[in-house]
Amino acid sequence: MPNIKLKNVTKKFRSISGQKENGTITAVDNVNIEIKAHSYNTILGPSGCGKTTLLRMIAGLEVLTNGKIFFNNQNVTNMPPEEKNIGFVFQHYSLFPHMDVWHNVGYGPLVRNFPKEKADKFIYKILKMVKLDDRSNAYPKELSGGMKQRIAVARALAVRSKLLLLDEPLGALDARIGTALRYELMNLVKKYKLTAIHVTHDQEEAMTISDNIIMMKRGKIVQTGSPKEIYRKPNSIFAAYFLGRCNFFRCNVVDKDHARFQDAIIEIPKRTEKKRIVLGVRPERVHINSKVKEENIQGTIEFINFLGDR
Ligand code: ADP
Ligand code: MG
Repeated sequence: MPNIKLKNVTKKFRSISGQKENGTITAVDNVNIEIKAHSYNTILGPSGCGKTTLLRMIAGLEVLTNGKIFFNNQNVTNMPPEEKNIGFVFQHYSLFPHMDVWHNVGYGPLVRNFPKEKADKFIYKILKMVKLDDRSNAYPKELSGGMKQRIAVARALAVRSKLLLLDEPLGALDARIGTALRYELMNLVKKYKLTAIHVTHDQEEAMTISDNIIMMKRGKIVQTGSPKEIYRKPNSIFAAYFLGRCNFFRCNVVDKDHARFQDAIIEIPKRTEKKRIVLGVRPERVHINSKVKEENIQGTIEFINFLGDR
C-alpha cells in the first residue's frame, strides 16, 4: 500500500459566472501533503473549499493544473484512474438498481474475468468484510441506506484496492446509521490494513474516525495533524472554530504575558509582541474560581433546552 505525496497540487477551473480572477476559480491552491500507508485520513473543510476536487485529483479523475502526485515515490500525476487501482465511494451510493448485490460488487473488470467459482469466493469474502455476506441476492431497493453504502464500499474494495477514497460517504445517511457506519469504516481500514482518505464537512465525524485530519479552507491546507493535535493546538482562529467549539475574545495586550478583556486581566498562554490578540477558550476549560462565592456570579438564563442527559 502506497505512501501518497502531493506536491504543489493546484486546480483551476474556468469560472462559469466569470467574476473571479481572469475568469478562473482556484479550487485547490498549491497543496502539499503526505498520507501514510494504513492510516485513516479525513479532508475536513466547509462546503466549496475544494475537498472533492482534491480527492478526484488523487484518484486521477481530474487533471491537475499544476503540481505532482506520487504513490511510493512513483510519479502518478498523469496515470489514468483505471491503472491506479483505487476504490472510490461517493456520497450517493451509485449502485446499479437492476443488479443484485453480488453483481454490483462483482461488476468490476477484475471480478468479471474470474472463473465463476473464484469470483464467488472473492465476492463472498468482500461481502463478509462489510458484514453483508448474507445479502448477496438482494437488490439495492431492498436495502437500507446504510447497507447500500456498505455495498458501495464493498464494490470499491472489489477492485482489490488497498486505497479507499470516500467522498462524504455518510452524508446521505440519517445520523444514527451514519454514526454506526463511521466505526465500521474505521474498523475495516484498521483490520485489513487499508489506507483511507475520507472527505467530510462534519467536524465530529472527522474527529472520531481520523488518525490524521487535513483541514482545508478556500483551496488551501490550513493545518494537518491528529484530532488531538489540532484540537489542542489549533494554528488559527479558523482551525479552532472548525474543530470543536470555542469562544473568542478580542483582547488588548497589556504586557508580554497579559491581555485585557473588558475588566479582566488574562494571562496569555504564549508570549506576544502584538498589541491586540484574539484569545480562544474551549467551553470545557472554563471553571469557576474557588475563591469566587457562587452567589456573586450573576447571569441571565435566556434559553433552556432538554437533551435527555443534559
Ligand atoms: P467541496 O467538495 O469542498 O465542497 P469542490 O471541490 O466541489 O468543493 O469545489 C471547489 C470549488 O471549485 C467550488 O467553488 C466549485 O464551485 C468549483 N468547482 C468544482 N468543480 C468544478 C467544475 N467542474 N467546474 C467549475 N468549477 C468547479
Ligand atoms: Mg464535495
